Amino acid sequence: MEQREIKVLRKEEGYAVLECGLCEGTGADPVIGFGKCPACGGRGTIRVREPYVQCGYCSSEGIHRDRRGFPRRLTCSVCSGKGVVSVPGETKTCPACQGSGRTLTDEFGLPCAICSGKGVVRA
Ligand SMILES: [Zn+2]
Ligand SMILES: [Zn+2]
Ligand SMILES: [Zn+2]
Repeated sequence: MEQREIKVLRKEEGYAVLECGLCEGTGADPVIGFGKCPACGGRGTIRVREPYVQCGYCSSEGIHRDRRGFPRRLTCSVCSGKGVVSVPGETKTCPACQGSGRTLTDEFGLPCAICSGKGVVRA
């Protein structure tokens, strides 16, 4: 799956304000199809502590997909739908899942146990 580029709207001290990964800035819930986006509370933007990486598990879509790529009516459990996750510092691609964030042998496509689904580990 292709990683979607999450747009950076502005920077604050220690934080970045980004376009919400789940609703792509619309503020509407794309998972259920009505109501406010659960990731950003309908604001269309999210605030994340830096440094951060784009979520490996959902490829920054914010939606949970099973191993075959079917979208489930669930927000991504790794990033809570934001599309990005904070990391403690320097990171490298996770050797266990090669950045996919998934346990490749698991039919439910559970998050990788080594990187917790982020797709990266501490360098
Ligand atoms: Zn949103
Ligand atoms: Zn995610
Ligand atoms: Zn991993």
